[in-house]
Order: sequence, then C-alpha cells, then structure tokens
Amino acid sequence: MFNTHRSETQLLRYIKQLENKDLSLAFGMIPLGSCTMKLNATTQLMPLSFANFAHLHPFTPLSQTGGYQAILKQLSLDLANITGFDACSLQPNSGAQGEYAGLMVIRAYHLSNNQPQRRIALIPQSAHGTNPASAVMAGMEVVVVKCDENGNIDITDLQQKAQTHADTLACLMVTYPSTHGVFEEAITDICQTIHQYGGQVYMDGANMNAQVGLTNPATIGADVCHLNLHKTFAIPHGGGGPGMGPICVAKHLTPFLPTHAYLNPQANSQAISAVSAAPYGSASILLISYAYIKLLGSEGLTQATKIAILNANYIKKRLETEYQTLYVGKNGRVAHELIIDVRPFKQSAGIEAEDIAKRLIDYGFHAPTVSFPVAGTLMIEPTESEDLDELDRFCNALLSIRHEIREIELGIAYTADNVLKNAPHPINEITADYWPHSYSRQKAAYPLPALYKHKFWASVARVNNTTGDRNLICTCPPIEMYEA
Ligand SMILES: *Cc1c(COP(=O)(O)O)cnc(C)c1O
Repeated sequence: MFNTHRSETQLLRYIKQLENKDLSLAFGMIPLGSCTMKLNATTQLMPLSFANFAHLHPFTPLSQTGGYQAILKQLSLDLANITGFDACSLQPNSGAQGEYAGLMVIRAYHLSNNQPQRRIALIPQSAHGTNPASAVMAGMEVVVVKCDENGNIDITDLQQKAQTHADTLACLMVTYPSTHGVFEEAITDICQTIHQYGGQVYMDGANMNAQVGLTNPATIGADVCHLNLHKTFAIPHGGGGPGMGPICVAKHLTPFLPTHAYLNPQANSQAISAVSAAPYGSASILLISYAYIKLLGSEGLTQATKIAILNANYIKKRLETEYQTLYVGKNGRVAHELIIDVRPFKQSAGIEAEDIAKRLIDYGFHAPTVSFPVAGTLMIEPTESEDLDELDRFCNALLSIRHEIREIELGIAYTADNVLKNAPHPINEITADYWPHSYSRQKAAYPLPALYKHKFWASVARVNNTTGDRNLICTCPPIEMYEA
C-alpha cells in the first residue's frame, strides 16, 4: 500500500476509503457488550496532538517532565479514589496486562507471608478468556467455579473449592457486575469466603462503567482490580488498541506494585518487576482519561453510570415482548448490559446469533457481542453516550428483525433464502441486474423507512468464517520472489 500510494492526496484518499468501509461510532451505536464503546470526546482527544505532550520520549529525564508527572499523579489519585483503593500503577497497557500485574502483586504478597504454595486461582465459568490466561502467565493454576442457572457464582461450589484448596488458595478472579450483566448480590459474601481461606480477591474491572460513583471494588471487599481506561474512561479502542489497564490495590498490596528501573533505580525489595517497557505505559493516551474525569467531575461521573444502567434497562424493557433477557437480578433488572437469548430461533427458524448480527448491518448497526459469555446469544451494552432516539432506532431494528424471523417461522419466508441468511446486502448486489432472491430488493436494503435518511452500505456480503479459519493464507512470499 505504501508503494501504491505515493502522494499525500493518494494516501489521504486511501485512508478515506478504509474509513468508508468502517461501521464506526461516528455512524451509530456500537452495542458491543463488555466493551463499553462510549463517546470519545474531541476535547479529551485534542491534547494528544499538543507537541508538549506528544513529542516526549518515555525516558525523557524526570526533571523535564513536571507537567506530565503532575497529571499522572492526579490521575492515579482519582483512579484510586474511584476504586476505593490505596494506590495505582499506570504501567499495564491493557486489561489483560493489568490482570497479569495484579496477580503478580498477589503472588508477591503471598511470598512475603512465607506462603509460596498459594498458587490456585479460582475463576468462575462466566469469566472473560483473559482471566485464566493471565493466571497461567502469572504461574498460577486455574480451578473453575460453576455458575447456577441464574448466571450467578454457585456459592456452594465456591465454598467447597476454596475449602479444598485452603492451603494453596492464591486468589479469586471475579468480574462485577458479572459478565452476565447482573450485579451479583452475594458478592461481599463471595469475597469474604475467599479471605476466610487465606486468598486474595482480584476484581476484573472491565464493567466499572456500572460502578463509578455508585459503588467500588473496595466496598465489595476486593483487594486489587484493573481498570480498562479504553472502556470506562473514554480512550477510543477497537482494531487492537491502544489501551491502558492500570491496576489499583488495597493498602496491604501497595508495597508490591510494579517498580520501574527508570523511576526507582534502587527498587524497594518488595515491589514486583516492571510489567511494561515504558514507566507509564502508553502515557499520552492517559491524558484522555484524565480529561474525561476532570471534565465530568464526581457528579458527572456518577450521572454517567446511572444513565448507562438506565439505557441498558430501557433496551431490555422495549425488547421484552420479543426477546428473552437471559439473566436478570431479583428485581428483574440488569446492570449496564444485557444478554438476549436468541438460541430458540435456531429451532423455530434456523436463525442463529450470527445471522442477526449480520442483518443488523443492513439496519446500520454494528453487531452486539456475539456468543460471549454464553454461546449463541447476543450481549448488548449501550453506554451512557447513546440518546433516546438512538436507543429507539436500535430497538426498532431488533424488533423488525424479530418480525423477519417470525416470517420464517410462519412459512412466509424461506428457511434457506431470507433477509437474515443473506445479510448483509452490499450495494452491488442490490443494484445488480440479476436478483436471485425470493424477497424484494427494497425489503433487503430498506426494511425501515428511517433508513432512507441514514443508510450504511456494507462493502462486502457475508464472509465465510469457516473457510477463513480452515484455509490459512501465508503472506510470506516464496523464496523465488527474492531472486529477481
Ligand atoms: C475487555 C475485557 C477484558 C480484557 O481487557 P483488554 O483491555 O481487552 O485486555 C477482561 N475482562 C473482561 C470482562 C473484559 O470485558
């Protein structure tokens, strides 16, 4: 691409072409559950372009970085405050890296207590895949804890496993509110049980958007957590980064936070080694979270949390008659996200979560999270950034899709040839002279009148995932290519 596009004009147009293929937040809501795709405000992003922030090398002498240090210190204080904890490390560059750092801190704590045998990490079935992966990276052994039919941690199983491993228990990794989108009511008892058996509690902070200002990990009794600044604290993400996953810890763990040779050449003996090459991870993007926190203030942050929870419950309510929400709390409500169960449509119409996800593109929406944490379901998270009109536009799309599924159930539409199975419909197919389908072009492209005003065209039709997975394409050119 860099060989092909040789002038600024060409490169600019190439980048614009890529942008046009992207169904981004600039077009509409990205309702990816667990990902917290919220507004990345322009004001918050602007400082990244300021030379005084952007042009500093990570190892610039400390005497020349007073401004950065003041901001990073304040941000650390604010994050510690928000989590209810004592201290913060800004080193980890992602949630997963935060998990690793936090677990290494727990490991160092046990070692300092002369308990090197504490290496078991209890992890509930509903956990994100990074949790067990990080535990293994940190030298721990994973023991899986069951969930009950309501999606909550099975307390009996937890108790049993904590007891069985009482001498070797290192920690529990728990996500709150759970990845099932519910504030687990037994959470403080769960944390107590772990402490009773000598373990520490690692709270996965990916769902902090449902907590900030209302509650915090210290309140529930956790000892350490990471924060995904690219989720809860407004750093743009997607396509692989960049992210930041600082960890916050309770007082007894503060001495073990990662050190860095650049900041503390004479490291204190208890601190774990650096987890990042740079002393403050990707320091420049921390400015976004700093601005986000300072612009909203504590009242604004709390209000954002409330609206995030309200928005998720609004969607749940509007979809109620047509889609079953898989897990709810005892008051019938969800936290900041919800899982809708679309598995019954497989039986009734041969429709799967993927078909609904792809059809949503025709309606101008990025898919929700597919098949996590429950296979065959969709997890929706609107965040506080979406207004009522956008929430309604999204609900209307899902309700209309339910209607399309019903047409298959009733035999009005074919099982093999329908708007869902063939979605998304790119413009070259819609405008082609040859149209092989049993439904109209109009129905395929403009199922709702609102789409005449605001339409996204997918650049390609359905991708065959299985073929892609089974046929690896090696991009390494053969050796003969070098001969010329
Ligand atoms: C996103 C997420 C993670 C991992 O965070 P990354 O920043 O992507 O590494 C871990 N747990 C949960 C529940 C998440 O949603």
